[in-house]
Amino acid sequence: MSTVQNEQHNRTPHGGGEHSLISVVVPCYNEQEVLPEFYRRLSTVLDDLNYSSEIVFVNDGSKDDTLEAMFRWNEADPRVAVIDLSRNFGKEIAMSAGLDHAKGDAVIVIDADLQDPPEVIPKLIEQWEEGYDNVYAKRTVREGETILKKTTASWFYRLIQHVSHVRIPEDTGDFRLLSRLAVDSLIKLREQHRFMKGLFSWIGYPSKAVTYRRDPRGAGESKWNYWKLWNFAIEGITSFSIVPLKIATYVGLTTAVIAFIYGFKVIYKTLVYGDPVAGFPTLMVVILFLGGVQLMSLGIIGEYLGRMFDETKRRPLYLVNRYSPARMCTEKQDERSGTMLAENVT
Ligand code: UDP
Ligand code: MG
Repeated sequence: MSTVQNEQHNRTPHGGGEHSLISVVVPCYNEQEVLPEFYRRLSTVLDDLNYSSEIVFVNDGSKDDTLEAMFRWNEADPRVAVIDLSRNFGKEIAMSAGLDHAKGDAVIVIDADLQDPPEVIPKLIEQWEEGYDNVYAKRTVREGETILKKTTASWFYRLIQHVSHVRIPEDTGDFRLLSRLAVDSLIKLREQHRFMKGLFSWIGYPSKAVTYRRDPRGAGESKWNYWKLWNFAIEGITSFSIVPLKIATYVGLTTAVIAFIYGFKVIYKTLVYGDPVAGFPTLMVVILFLGGVQLMSLGIIGEYLGRMFDETKRRPLYLVNRYSPARMCTEKQDERSGTMLAENVT
């Protein structure tokens, strides 16, 4: 398949047993219903790994008891870190906050709603050990989703493949593993309009797909509706392509040429046949058509201009209300700086 970049070269194996740390980033927005079950399943998976691990819960301004649960686990489990954002920033930014704070040598991003089964994590890690930096989970089955959602999703992927240079693999969500190298590269991209699927592909590096069955949501409800999905699609296209601007140019150009030819015909008819004033319907049609094309083009330009406006403000991506790192990591760090101190003394 041409869209999937399985590069075979330039790979150096990762890993290193328990010295390596695996971070799991979980963006959460009103997930109190599934979170306990998610935490239980994730913990079971992490317990069986040969690596030490860290769970970075990001609370994206939840209005229910999600945060309380997170802090409870933060107290009880030295692996759990909690980032409480100051309000709801949306999944893309919540994910970025998690990536910024994750300390692992490999970082996994996973949804809290159990649609991405935590049991796939060992398979992602296997590929990372093989030396892949960007291991993404590819869905084979999408359960619990309507035909309409599936079709529109597939159209969207085809469209974005055509209009942008970045190859975004189809049927791939945000569920993936990134090596430290990939994470460090990704967190350098600070744009406000974050189409993460595109950014994940943009950074490149040896990438590999791991297939899995996407389950229906464990509990609670999806935060997506068709209006949000539509905006998400616009975000994806405008962040990674200027083709719509080109289309506006060419539609404008074509109408101008047609108008010119038509104008010529009108003048010719008037001069040669002395046509009396007529053609109100044609006039209306032309005015309305041109008006429509102009407004549409302005709208397209506006989309890009608005994005430029947002970027020029250079605001931080998110604000953190409270950050409580995983105790295990701070202990490890203390240990490390302790030995460094000792080395400096001697
Ligand atoms: N999410 C978030 N902030 C938001 C919306 C969603 O952090 O504003 C999280 C949500 O808690 C879940 C993940 O993003 O862990 C995916 O959300 P959802 O299941 O609603 O999306 P879908 O699976 O339908 O694409
Ligand atoms: Mg979901």
